Amino acid sequence: MRILIVEDEKPLADIVKKGLEEEGYAVDIAYNGEDGFFMAENEPSDLIILDIMLPVIDGITILKRIRKAGIKTPVLMLTAKGTVMDKVSGLDSGADDYLTKPFSFEELLARIRALLRRDSGVKSSAIEIGDLLIDMATHEVKREGKTILLSAKEYALIEYMALNKNRVLSRTNISEHLYDHDFDLDSNVIDVFINRIRKKVDRGFRKKLIHTLRGAGYMLKE
Ligand code: CA
Repeated sequence: MRILIVEDEKPLADIVKKGLEEEGYAVDIAYNGEDGFFMAENEPSDLIILDIMLPVIDGITILKRIRKAGIKTPVLMLTAKGTVMDKVSGLDSGADDYLTKPFSFEELLARIRALLRRDSGVKSSAIEIGDLLIDMATHEVKREGKTILLSAKEYALIEYMALNKNRVLSRTNISEHLYDHDFDLDSNVIDVFINRIRKKVDRGFRKKLIHTLRGAGYMLKE
């Protein structure tokens, strides 16, 4: 899943990016409101973390503009301590949730997971595809009850495929949601990546869950 952070406090934005990347998320940053609005409109984000107090264009204005432009990406607003009006106007302007600074990284992660889950229409924190179980709360993946060890990025891929199960995902879909703006789309990284995860998920099992659709992409399907 790909997250856009719009935050002018560079040290905070950078540390959140680093932490989220360690969890397997792809992260883009805009350090001011103008870039933030441009990226929110033009980059395929799954979630936007939006600070309210920003130079050039403030967070509330960005939120109103992107909602007016029909962009439904979940937005988690960051508000300064004690500014009740900010929270109210944020929620009124189409924010999905807010977090008051300073916040713990664990809480940020929990809220991100909840918003992404809500957005994909998944009710529980676990997704089942046949005998494959993906727990989005713990990032644990099991097949026939046995744990499959995955890197953070491999987990992100299987979770993305699980949230879109039975749907064909093109290489572009996958790269747009798993890699940030700097990713080179021409490389065969996605194919290599799929093959790596296929070995872990499907090897040794009669029933294959990861399907290749020639010329179209990949699909996770029972
Ligand atoms: Ca700020």
